[in-house]
Amino acid sequence: MSFSELGLDPLILKSVLAAGYENATPVQMQAIPAALSGRDLLVSSHTGSGKTAAFLLPSIQRMLAEPTVKSMGPRVLVLTPTRELALQVEKAAMTYGKDMRRFRTACLVGGAPYGLQLKRLSQPVDVVVATPGRLIDHLERGKIDFSRLEVLVLDEADRMLDMGFVDDIKAIAARCPAERQTLLFSATLDGVVGNLARELTRDAQRIEIEAVPHKESKIEQRLLFADNMDHKNRLLDALLRDVEMVQAIVFASTKRSTEEISDLLADSGFASDALHGDMQQGQRNRALQRLREGRTRVLVATDVAARGIDIEALPFVVNYDLPHNAEDYVHRIGRTGRAGALGEAISLVSESETRYLKDIEKLIGSPLEPVIVPGFEPGAADVPAYQSRPPRPDRHAERPPERPAERREPRPKPAASRDALFDAPYVPSEAPRAEGASAPVRKHPKKQVAALFRSPVKVDSAGQ
Ligand code: AMP
Repeated sequence: MSFSELGLDPLILKSVLAAGYENATPVQMQAIPAALSGRDLLVSSHTGSGKTAAFLLPSIQRMLAEPTVKSMGPRVLVLTPTRELALQVEKAAMTYGKDMRRFRTACLVGGAPYGLQLKRLSQPVDVVVATPGRLIDHLERGKIDFSRLEVLVLDEADRMLDMGFVDDIKAIAARCPAERQTLLFSATLDGVVGNLARELTRDAQRIEIEAVPHKESKIEQRLLFADNMDHKNRLLDALLRDVEMVQAIVFASTKRSTEEISDLLADSGFASDALHGDMQQGQRNRALQRLREGRTRVLVATDVAARGIDIEALPFVVNYDLPHNAEDYVHRIGRTGRAGALGEAISLVSESETRYLKDIEKLIGSPLEPVIVPGFEPGAADVPAYQSRPPRPDRHAERPPERPAERREPRPKPAASRDALFDAPYVPSEAPRAEGASAPVRKHPKKQVAALFRSPVKVDSAGQ
C-alpha cells in the first residue's frame, strides 16, 4: 500500500519519499490511519517492522496545527528503553520533520551531559525522545513542562518493563495531560504490558502485527553446535574469515564476555569493538559510529545493543551464545534483515544451551537449521544427545576442510572518532579486513548469501 493512501499531509509525504520509502509496511498501514484519527493505540510489532515511522509520522503531522496551549514544552514525548534507541528515534524524527517550520527535537538520555539537554529544553521543542530515568531527573528539577503535550509514545514497552522502568513510566504518564493520545508499541501486549496498557490508555485500538519473524522472513537462521568455548572461538574465527562476512554483530550474554571476545578477535587481526551497558555513552556512540563508517568489522555486543542499533543492510548476526530470554533472540536477529533487506543469523550452541534453544524454536515456531563447517565439526567421539538432529552436510560436501585460523599481529585499535552520532550515511562495504590485507573490499551482495557455507575460505598473501 502506498503512503499516499494513509491520510498523511503532503509535507509529511514529501519527507517519506525523501527517506526512500516506496510502500508502507504492515504496521504503518494499520497504525498510521488509526493514530491520525486521534485514538489511543496498543500495537504489537516486531523490531525492524517500520514501527518508528508508524508512530512518528502521525505524531509529527500534529505539528502542522498550532498548539492550543502556550508553552515551550514538547508536544510529543517518546519513551524508549535504551539510549541508542532514543538517539535512533530522534534521528528518525528529524528526518520525517525536516520540512516542517521551526521543527525542534531533543533527546534526553542518561550518560550524556545535562548542559546540552537543558539548552534544548530552554527553547520551544516539538518532540522529546527520552529514556525514563533521565526524563525523571529533568522532571524532578522542574526543567520540563508537559502542559502542551499531545502524544505520549511508549516504544518497546515490554523492554522498558523488563528493565524495571514501570514506576518511572507511571510517574511520567501521571505528569502528562489526561487528554493526551497514548501510543504503546511492544513486542507483546500480554502480561504486565497488558496491565500497564490498561492503566495508561483509554479505549485503545489494538493492532497486532506478527511478533516474530515468520517462515517467509528474509533472515536465514542457522545453528552450529559447539563442544565448548574454545570450539566456539574457532568457529567464530572461521565464520569471520569468510569473504562474504563483510560486517557482523556478535552477541554475547555478559559484558565481560563481549570484551574478551572482542580482544580475542582483535588479536586475530579483526577490527572489532565491544558494546555493553557499562561503557560510557561516548564510548558506546563511538563504537557504533565506527561500525557505521565501516572502520569496525565486528561489533561484539550484549543485548542492550540489540534494541538500539539500526544499520542499513547489516548482513550478519552471530549469536556467540544464546540469550536466556527467547524474545531477545528475535531482537538480536532483527539487527539484520531490517525493513526487507536480506540477512543471516548464525547461532553457536553448546549442550548447556539446549533449553534456551528449545524456547527459541517454540517462539519462532520452527526449528533452526543445523549446519556444520567442514573441519570444525563438533567432537564425534562424545556426541551430545542434543545433536540427534542430523546436520546438513550436503552443501559443504565438495568443500575442502577449513584452514585453521592463522594468528596475526594484533591490529591497533582505531583512533577515536568524533562524538557525533548517526550523521553519516552507512557504507556497508568499507570494513577493514586484517592488518595489511590487500584483497579488494567487496560490496555485500544484495542477494541472500550463506556466507561460509557456500564458498571456500580463500587465503591470500595477507593471511585472509
Ligand atoms: P524500525 O522498525 O522503525 O526500527 O525501522 C527499521 C528500518 O526500516 C529503519 O531503517 C527505517 O528507516 C526503515 N523503514 C521504515 N519504514 C520503511 C518503509 N516503509 N520502507 C522501507 N524502509 C522503511
